[in-house]
Amino acid sequence: MPRIIQLPLSGRDRHHYISELRRAEAAHRTLLDQTVEAFRAAHDLACQEWNTRQFIGGPADPSPVIEAAIAAGRELLQVRCQRCGHESMVDLVEVIWPRSKQIHTLAKVLRCQNCRDERNKARPDLVALHYRKAPDPAAPARRARSR
Ligand SMILES: [Zn+2]
Repeated sequence: MPRIIQLPLSGRDRHHYISELRRAEAAHRTLLDQTVEAFRAAHDLACQEWNTRQFIGGPADPSPVIEAAIAAGRELLQVRCQRCGHESMVDLVEVIWPRSKQIHTLAKVLRCQNCRDERNKARPDLVALHYRKAPDPAAPARRARSR
């Protein structure tokens, strides 16, 4: 429930108070935007770290949670079949799996589509998390605004 702010009654104080209130509201919007951007940047760093760890042959566990990868804009998971080498992109936005779970938990439920007909279905290796499209450095940061 929003707090009701009592305005001073005298005209001059009231004017001053209203302008201070507007200033604080603008500052608050800026802080909210900066917070969203800081979280996005932190999530993106975690995705980069995980990508690099996969590249150098490190463990897939732990990995960023799915919702963090999506928040970072890295909505595509590149996978490679262990048997046939077929590569594909898994769209994390469309995958039916709890978004609070880590990326590597998908490994046990993913199957190669190329090897689908074979009795022993191959599991893919998780390769990297990618942006749906390359971020434009000139573009303003994506903002999760409710207004
Ligand atoms: Zn395969």
